[in-house]
Amino acid sequence: MKDTLHYIDEWIDQLKEEGVYRELPVNTGPCDHVIELEGETIVNMSSNNYLGLANNERVKKAACDAVKTYGAGAGSVRTIVGNQDLLEDVEDLLADFKEEEAAIVFQSGLNCNIGTIQAIVKKGDLIVSDELNHASIIDGIRLCKADKAIFNHSDMNDLERVLKEKRKDYERCLIITDGVFSMDGDLAKLPSIVDMAEKYDCLTYVDDAHGSGVLGRSGRGTVDHYGLHGKIDFIIGTLSKAIGVIGGYVATKENVKKWLLHRARPLLFSTALPPAALGAIKESLTILSESDEHTKKLWSNANYFKKHLRKMGFDIGHSQTPITPVMVGNEAKTMTFSKQLLDEGVFVSGIVFPTVPKGKGRLRVMISASHTQKDLDFALEKFEKVGKTLKLI
Ligand SMILES: *Cc1c(COP(=O)(O)O)cnc(C)c1O
Repeated sequence: MKDTLHYIDEWIDQLKEEGVYRELPVNTGPCDHVIELEGETIVNMSSNNYLGLANNERVKKAACDAVKTYGAGAGSVRTIVGNQDLLEDVEDLLADFKEEEAAIVFQSGLNCNIGTIQAIVKKGDLIVSDELNHASIIDGIRLCKADKAIFNHSDMNDLERVLKEKRKDYERCLIITDGVFSMDGDLAKLPSIVDMAEKYDCLTYVDDAHGSGVLGRSGRGTVDHYGLHGKIDFIIGTLSKAIGVIGGYVATKENVKKWLLHRARPLLFSTALPPAALGAIKESLTILSESDEHTKKLWSNANYFKKHLRKMGFDIGHSQTPITPVMVGNEAKTMTFSKQLLDEGVFVSGIVFPTVPKGKGRLRVMISASHTQKDLDFALEKFEKVGKTLKLI
C-alpha cells in the first residue's frame, strides 16, 4: 500500500534537524506555581495563570457548586438553549469591571478574535494591523472580507504612512493591536493609536489578553492603564490567563453585543462555555473587584525577578509587564537552555521560529502572583548556573 502520509514524516524530520522538535511534558497535577513532571516537583515559570486564580480555593469551589446546580455541559450553542443565567452574570460583571457599556463572552480568546473581526467589517473596509499581533488576530483577519494592511511593530510613523496612503479608498477602517505584546511584554502605544484613529476616522480594536488582570486598576487592563475609557471601540480580553479559567470576551457598546449575538459564528456554531467555567469566572471577577492584592503581588514578584536577571547580565529585552523574555538568539541553543533549566528543576519554555522571527529565540519567563520568594530565588540561582554554562552571561 502506498504510504500517503510519508510527507508528514519528512516534515517532522525537518523539525528534528533544526533542533526544534519537542515532546510535550505531561503535568500530573494542577498548573500552579509548581507542576509535577515525571514524579518531580518543578518550579513553573511558563503559565499564563498570572494571579494564581486557576488554583484559588474560592474559584475551585465556585466551579464545583456550578456543576452541582447546572451540570457539566451547556448542552447547546448559546443562540439556541445554551444561554444560562451564569453566562449573563459573567457578562454583567465583565462590563462593570471593564467600565464599558456591555460585554459578550466567547469560548476562548482565539474564538473571540476569529468570530468578532469577521462580523464587524465588510468587503470595502480596511483593517490596519500591527505586524506582531497575535496569531488569532491574523486568523480572524484572514477569515474576513475586508482588505488588510500591516504596519511595523508599534511604529506610529508607519501607521500614519499606511493611513495616509489607503484610508481614502475604503468605507471603514479598523486599527487592530495587541494591548500587551505576548512575546516581548511591551505595551501598544494606545494614546497615539487613538489620536491617529481620530485624525483618520478609524475604529479601534485592542486585544488585551495579557493586559487584563495585569495592568490598570485591579487589572482592568491596558485601556484603563492609559486612562482611555470610551476611546476604544472593541476591547478584547481572555478569561484563560489572569482570570484563570477559559473563555474570551469583547467589552464594547450594547449595539455591538446585539449584532455579535446574530453574526459571530462561534456563538452560532459552537457550544457555549460549561457551567464549571462560568461559575469559576464569576468568582475570579468578584475576587478582582474586591481587592488589588493579587495584582500587587504579581508586580512585586515580577519586578524582583527582572531586577535580578538584569543584574546577572541577561538581555531581557524591553518588557513593560511580567512577561520576561530572556534573549538567546540561536534556536537550538534556546532549546538547550530550556532543557538544562528543566534538569535543574525549573520549567521555562523556549520560544523559537515560527512563534518569533528566526534568530530571535528566547526563553519566556512568566511570573505569577502565586510564586513564593523561595520559588523565585531557586529559579534565579538556576538561571545563573545554566546561563554561565552556556556563556550567556
Ligand atoms: C493568549 C492570547 C489569545 C488567546 O486566548 P485564549 O483564551 O487562550 O484562546 C488571544 N490574543 C492574545 C493577544 C493572546 O495573548
